[in-house]
Amino acid sequence: MRIVLFGPPGAGKGTQAKRIVGLLNIPHLSTGDMLRAAVMANTRTGRDAKRIMESGQLVPDQLVISAVAERISQTDAKQGFILDGFPRTIAQAVALDDLLHIEGLGLDRALELRVDENALFERIMIRSREATDVGGTARVDDNEQALRIRLSAYQEQTAPLTNYYRSRTILRSVDGLLPIDTVTSSLLEAIRT
Ligand code: AMP
Repeated sequence: MRIVLFGPPGAGKGTQAKRIVGLLNIPHLSTGDMLRAAVMANTRTGRDAKRIMESGQLVPDQLVISAVAERISQTDAKQGFILDGFPRTIAQAVALDDLLHIEGLGLDRALELRVDENALFERIMIRSREATDVGGTARVDDNEQALRIRLSAYQEQTAPLTNYYRSRTILRSVDGLLPIDTVTSSLLEAIRT
């Protein structure tokens, strides 16, 4: 199963992707996690991505496309994967199709988590507060200004993916505001049917 999962910031992509990989036994590939790891390791990619991520904008396509190309060529991803947070632009979606086509493969599902904008704000602000309350640090991009930029980046650059995938019948949309277990079952159902 080769699956992409997309949805606005705070929709629960990371949480749901982790639950699904546990059940389907495929690796969870999160470009956000890859980029944060690169920032921590202070690699060239990390240095290029850091400020852009903090501002809430998308990093350049080529940077994430290279990271994904390398990751999906690894052995554990040969049987399938769930990509969380990639593609986020049509150019990335086309690049992913090209990468898979070279190997005679294709995507099986494009899962969209739908959540309304007010609910997203509330969720992200809670995520930020909770992280601080337990003595941790909130994600640097979990603040109001960065969130507004992340949301508009989503509307402008990522939401058009629905049309891109709908035309190939692999798109399934799930209501991300339902209780967490219901969302997981709906996603699993969407993968199976
Ligand atoms: P996430 O953890 O998926 O919310 O990603 C955090 C940040 O990493 C995003 O706000 C972007 O700056 C960057 N990022 C992650 N994935 C991508 C992607 N596919 N394309 C461009 N930027 C990305």
